[in-house]
Amino acid sequence: MTEKVNGIEIKSIDGIEGYQWQNWAQTHSCNPSRYFEPDNIEGLREIIYSAKENNKKIRVVGCGKSPNNIVCTSDYLISLKKFKKVLAIDEQKQTVKVESGITFTELNPILERKNLSVSILGSISDVSVGGAISVAVHGSGLKYSVVSNYVIELDLLTSSGDVIKCTKHENTELLHSVLCGLGAFGIILNVTLQVETLFYVHNFVQTVTLDDVIDDIYEYLESDYPKLYWFPHTDHVVVNHSNRIKNGRPTKFSYLERLTNWIVNYGIGYYALEFCYYISTYIPQLIPLINRTFFKIVYSKQEEVVDVSYKSFQLECLFKQYVNEWSIPVESTSLVLLQLRRFFETNKDVFAHFPIEIRFVKGDEIYMSPSFGRNSCYINIVNYKPYGRENDFRKYWEFFELTMKELGGRPHWAKIGSAKDYGQQLTGSDFIKMYGMFRPFLQIKKRVDPISMFSNSFIENIFRVKNDTSR
Ligand SMILES: Cc1cc2nc3c(=O)[nH]c(=O)nc-3n(C[C@H](O)[C@H](O)[C@H](O)COP(=O)(O)OP(=O)(O)OC[C@H]3O[C@@H](n4cnc5c(N)ncnc54)[C@H](O)[C@@H]3O)c2cc1C
Repeated sequence: MTEKVNGIEIKSIDGIEGYQWQNWAQTHSCNPSRYFEPDNIEGLREIIYSAKENNKKIRVVGCGKSPNNIVCTSDYLISLKKFKKVLAIDEQKQTVKVESGITFTELNPILERKNLSVSILGSISDVSVGGAISVAVHGSGLKYSVVSNYVIELDLLTSSGDVIKCTKHENTELLHSVLCGLGAFGIILNVTLQVETLFYVHNFVQTVTLDDVIDDIYEYLESDYPKLYWFPHTDHVVVNHSNRIKNGRPTKFSYLERLTNWIVNYGIGYYALEFCYYISTYIPQLIPLINRTFFKIVYSKQEEVVDVSYKSFQLECLFKQYVNEWSIPVESTSLVLLQLRRFFETNKDVFAHFPIEIRFVKGDEIYMSPSFGRNSCYINIVNYKPYGRENDFRKYWEFFELTMKELGGRPHWAKIGSAKDYGQQLTGSDFIKMYGMFRPFLQIKKRVDPISMFSNSFIENIFRVKNDTSR
């Protein structure tokens, strides 16, 4: 099949040379020696055989929404954007089998028409199912685990060209590895997800003080999908109490309300904010004032909204940004917040963009999931790039990462190293301490991909363990 990619005529399994790939956040890019967009499994196999013949590595890309260099390669890059079919929906068992390149944006309305829904999602739906499960995407709510945990079956195409089926009963250890496998085991072809009856979410937005949160964090964990946003350099926290309801009706906004919302959320909350943060790249001392002002104008109002499940999970992320997110045991949440506040109070030369996002995730048994074996709190900090400019956030990020690490933290796989040269340079020697199942994970990976075909510098770094005898 012949078609055009970036204006160049290609046969889908021949790939193209000279393709420049960039992630969505425009923070990482690469020049793969060949870029492919195959549309069937035979095409994928041919690419694998060609890689072997030419001594090339392979990376797979879903939607490129990971903020770090997890996808980047100078060898072969395969996009799965043509693997989008819904293969089966079982309404009785409430399962859906899809090709791994389909995005949740495409899948959600299909499920809705069958009165079905996913139980949880991250803040954006425009991510592929394969990409989301490979890095254990999470939403928020102690009753709900990472998205990977809703996978009941998947098919993996390995470097030998074989397809391995992994289920809760067959190749279970491999399933527990591939579910946060970072693209290092092979190409996930098909995924069967456990879904449920469609539901609605009632979201009540309230503002509280940081002291309220620190004093009794558990009070804020009671709703189904709680999310907290702290405005650093202020005492303000916006709390989303989101609860499931069966027969809701999405809130309808009048024309005037929609116009007002647009002016407040976009006109002020995006365009004016970007301009102000841009000015602050020259005068960083303005950041606390900007945070306070935008909290008052845009975020201090109480709100109640009902929406269909998957739409209620969404958050519009407008800014290109660096992000840094770690999970810690939920019990340590207040301690981290206290330490961060003290850090801002005592380091007057440190300035932080808002929000500091605080979410919660149920523990799981996926070997490399940041929620492995414990209920977790995920804390995400940001640094925007207004009109492409940056301020110095090194001291802030280093403090944050050290604090999280000391409290048993584990970094989000898609976000670690999102800002080059900032923060901790972690390797396998660190991960071995963080993850009880790291060694079995390495061994299973070695068995399934003995030639390390699905690797890049990101993966090599993760698997670099000092004095490791298992390799
Ligand atoms: C604005 C924004 C908001 C976000 N919000 C959240 C959030 O709320 N929660 C959260 O946890 N994360 C969040 N993220 C991170 C993002 O959701 C994840 O990085 C997600 O995995 C990206 O999916 P993708 O399809 O873009 O995957 P990619 O970034 O393309 O790939 C991710 C990894 O998966 C591998 N991969 C992809 N497809 C396959 C496959 N079929 N087989 C094998 N390996 C594969 C790739 O090789 C790579 O290692 C956010 C990111 C952005 C940009």
